[in-house]
Amino acid sequence: MNARRTLAFALLVALGSCALPPRQGAQVSPISASAAPRRTVRRASGDVQVRLANLASAKSLEIRDAQGASVKIERAGAALACDGARKPEVRLAERGPWSVNGRTYRGTLVVRPGGGASGFEVTNVLELEDYIAGVVASELVLWSASLETLRAQAIAARSYAVSALDDRGARRTDPFLQSDTRDMAYSGAFVPKNEREREIAAKLERAIDSTRGRVLMEGERVVDARFHAACGDQTADARDVSPEARFECLRSVGCPACRNELGLARDAAGEPWSFTAQRAALDALAQRFHVGARLERLRPVAQDGSGRWLEVELQGPTGSARVRFEEVRRALGADKLLSSAIELTVPRAGEPIASTLRFEGRGRGHGVGLCQAAARDCAKAGWNAERILAHYYPGARVVDWR
Ligand SMILES: [Zn+2]
Repeated sequence: MNARRTLAFALLVALGSCALPPRQGAQVSPISASAAPRRTVRRASGDVQVRLANLASAKSLEIRDAQGASVKIERAGAALACDGARKPEVRLAERGPWSVNGRTYRGTLVVRPGGGASGFEVTNVLELEDYIAGVVASELVLWSASLETLRAQAIAARSYAVSALDDRGARRTDPFLQSDTRDMAYSGAFVPKNEREREIAAKLERAIDSTRGRVLMEGERVVDARFHAACGDQTADARDVSPEARFECLRSVGCPACRNELGLARDAAGEPWSFTAQRAALDALAQRFHVGARLERLRPVAQDGSGRWLEVELQGPTGSARVRFEEVRRALGADKLLSSAIELTVPRAGEPIASTLRFEGRGRGHGVGLCQAAARDCAKAGWNAERILAHYYPGARVVDWR
């Protein structure tokens, strides 16, 4: 069968049925239908559904199969246009890999029209372990990460995925994961292009194989094992960041890597940072939280044990408002205001703001759970994945369900 016919066959099979044809022994449904954690973990070798955020606003999609044959999908009003016909959805039902916009996806792809007048809702349905390999490749700089760093990240990511899908399945909502920081970064499969990258891919495969099916558990529940780029000094307590947090192991711990206690050069991610918010952004903040047209002062009114800002008071010409600092971070740009571990502001907290407000801080991300900068440094210092996880999720067990 030539390449063109292979893809046409895949489409024909897909469009002729309403469901993805399951492979023998594989589950197409996500690992989410049961509220019972034990049973859910036993099913953790099934498929997961990942919504691809990077394709949501695409004008058209060109999807290639492994032989290079391609299909083009465009919007046609509330439907899709593909192969000269209008379709409510296109399912690429054979197992990939598929290539879309320079990225490679294993498993199957389901394309539906996006919610608005343009764009697409693209769902990648793939085996949990293939997804975890993609997350580890997207979350870490692979060439510099050691095997134990990759193993620690794989176990944490697998735990998070199983826990999140379990929660969503129990609530019967959103039985899928997002491919960005709303869940975990996922840019598809890592595809090596040269000998050096083939060595890296082999290391990634060893990390996945040697942790296959292993998750963190606390009591009978799989841990919602969050992680972040760098804590800066001490991790955050999940209960301070999100009111629904329910795991003891997501409490604050000191970070030997960010504290420079390992005798290594500090990881760049652990370096202090600064960000200067301009007047226009500050005024938009004031308007958003209804304190008037201009932000006059800002000061923290609640901090956690590690000094992170939990709540701030915004003051403007018409009043003041108490706001969670995470909301301020999101409003000013979480990619610029990198964490809530603020050490200094200019002008100082609570003083009148003339034109700009400069934040100086440490760490990157929400600070809960595994510090990725530390996962790299601790592995360099000889810690294995289990020791790293035991430090950052104290009291949780790594459980092998194979
Ligand atoms: Zn740290």
